[in-house]
Amino acid sequence: MIEILIAVLAITILAAILGILLGLASIYFKSEADPMVDQIDAILPQTQCGQCNYTGCRPYAQAIANGDDVNKCLPGGQATMDKLADLMGIKVIQSVHDEATKIKTVAFIDEHDCIGCTKCIQACPVDAIIGSTKAMHTVIKDECTSCVLCVAPCPTNCIKMIPITITPEN
Ligand code: SF4
Ligand code: SF4
Ligand code: SF4
Repeated sequence: MIEILIAVLAITILAAILGILLGLASIYFKSEADPMVDQIDAILPQTQCGQCNYTGCRPYAQAIANGDDVNKCLPGGQATMDKLADLMGIKVIQSVHDEATKIKTVAFIDEHDCIGCTKCIQACPVDAIIGSTKAMHTVIKDECTSCVLCVAPCPTNCIKMIPITITPEN
């Protein structure tokens, strides 16, 4: 009987110690929410594609809050850059991707092979594709941000990225 009481007491003390340690750990490792990072993150398209050279949208939002440029999110395109620049109170700058290549590509759908599965629409973060189920789909060229995210999901491989020359108008 005494042994059982000692065992119960030991388990109770151990549980209490563990509880205290967990409580201390949660205080020590607690990450402070940063409202600015939240606001930046809310503007980003949340595709987690990594084309900004960060592991996802949140790490890039953190980097912008720490002073990184706002022009690295390819899927977000100009509209996202404008919103980020506005939020950060800075001048709008050209996309780093445009600066790197000077050649912009846009998605083009070979409509003969499109089966209207809508997978490309679901993948596009900026609603640059129009079409309905079992009907031909089309890319709105001026809305396409060149992110390539629609290409892989297409089951018939009918989406190609085609180059267009960058002019002051685009
Ligand atoms: S490129 Fe844009 S959408 Fe892709 S992970 Fe970076 S911030 Fe997110
Ligand atoms: S490349 Fe495809 S997914 Fe990306 S913006 Fe253009 S149409 Fe949309
Ligand atoms: S993913 Fe391909 S086949 Fe499906 S709707 Fe888009 S273009 Fe057509």
